Amino acid sequence: MDRTCSSGKKGFNTQELAVEALLHVHVHYVASKTVNVYQCELCNQWHLTSKGEMHPELKQAINDGTLQERIKKLEWERRYGKF
Ligand SMILES: [Zn+2]
Repeated sequence: MDRTCSSGKKGFNTQELAVEALLHVHVHYVASKTVNVYQCELCNQWHLTSKGEMHPELKQAINDGTLQERIKKLEWERRYGKF
């Protein structure tokens, strides 16, 4: 995960980690344009990308409200702190 890629992008060892990061980005940055993950030819790690189709898990999280729920939870924690 700390290996640097010559593309300069942050890399993830597995697709699962990259998808989790993709969702995480959308929770923290609502205006984020990242939509998907891909495996890099240079470093073999997974990177986030703003090109192409939206990842099905991200689409589902938006559609079923999971993402909105995580955003709300984050706002709550920022306002009142963690319990
Ligand atoms: Zn790479």
